Amino acid sequence: MPQPDAAPGLAALYQSLILDHYRKPHNHGELEDADVSVTVKNPLCGDEIVLQLAFDEVGTVRAASFRGQGCSISLASASMMTEAVTGLARDEIDRAARRFARMMEGDADAAGDPSLGDLRALSGVAKVPARIPCALLPWEALAKAMTEPQS
Ligand code: ZN
Repeated sequence: MPQPDAAPGLAALYQSLILDHYRKPHNHGELEDADVSVTVKNPLCGDEIVLQLAFDEVGTVRAASFRGQGCSISLASASMMTEAVTGLARDEIDRAARRFARMMEGDADAAGDPSLGDLRALSGVAKVPARIPCALLPWEALAKAMTEPQS
């Protein structure tokens, strides 16, 4: 597996993945049968995200959806995150959240972890500290949603 810095094409690929998710977000809109709905804001950037989750009977995320407004990093992260956590059990979600947080700290192992899927495209954000809260905002929403009592 080549390191990001050693692969000239990777930065461009990651950039276009971020723009793809920003322009055509996955899991975007209102989730009709949501069990939880949370809103988080990043006042530094003006990002605001509403995250909705629906669980199956054993607590696995059956569906995830988001809406809101914000910069390309926060919305791309939300699109990628909702995709990554759909079908995951609670402990798997905790693991993914920890891996993503590690990636935002610049951890190269986490940045190469296939389980993060498209989220790896955000690894470069670790080098731009001002944007890290944008990338983490959907995960903040996820952590909040996972501790909400389910209706
Ligand atoms: Zn932002």
